[in-house]
Amino acid sequence: MSAHLIMSTKLPTLPLDIDSVKGFLAPEEGAALFEAATSASNIGPCLEVGSYCGKSTVYLGTACKQTGNIVYAIDHHRGSEEHQLGEEYHDSDLYDSDVEMVDTFKEFRKVMRRAKLKDTVIPIVASSTTASQRWSTPLGLVFIDGGHSMEAAMADYRAWAAHVAIGGILAIHDIFPNPDEGGQAPYTIWKLAKSSGLFEELPTVNTLGRFIRI
Ligand code: MG
Repeated sequence: MSAHLIMSTKLPTLPLDIDSVKGFLAPEEGAALFEAATSASNIGPCLEVGSYCGKSTVYLGTACKQTGNIVYAIDHHRGSEEHQLGEEYHDSDLYDSDVEMVDTFKEFRKVMRRAKLKDTVIPIVASSTTASQRWSTPLGLVFIDGGHSMEAAMADYRAWAAHVAIGGILAIHDIFPNPDEGGQAPYTIWKLAKSSGLFEELPTVNTLGRFIRI
C-alpha cells in the first residue's frame, strides 16, 4: 500500500455542515472518500454512482476542487428501491407529488450550490447503465453507492469497474459481510472485485470497501 492511501483519522474541512445534508454516509467513510479523491487527482476524474442528495459528493467534490479535478455524479434522482413511497427509507420531503415520484435532484443542486461545487461536480441525471454506454474516459476513482438490489449492484459493477485506471481507486458503500447487518448486493460486488485479479484490497472503513486498481 502506498503511503498516501493510509487512512488518516483527521476529518476534512468541508464548506458546509455535512450533518445538514440528507444521506447515509458516516463521517469516517466521508473522510476516506475525501482522501481517496485527493490521491486520485493525478490519475483521472472521479465518478460516483448514486449521489442522492449529495452527501458523498460534497466529500469527493471538496477534495477535487482543491486539486483541480472533477466529479461526475450519476443518479437518475428517482430514488433507489428503499426510498420509494411506503419503503423503509422513504423521505416525504423528497417526494414530488405532481409527478408521483421521488425527486432528489432539486435537493442535490441546492447542496452543490451551498458547497460551492457547481464548477467541480458534473451531475449526470441518468441511470448508471445508460450513462456508461459510451463511456471511455479512464477514471481516478469510482464510488459505487447506487441501488442495493442484486440486479442494480451487479449492473453498476459491470458498467464501471473496468473504467478505473491503473493506480485508481474503486470504492463500494454498504459492505456487510454479516447478512444480519445489511443487504448482500454491495458485498457481492465487493467479492467480485476482490476475486477479479484487477484490484488489490485496501482496508475497509466502517462499511466502505476500497480497492486500488493494479
Ligand atoms: Mg450507501
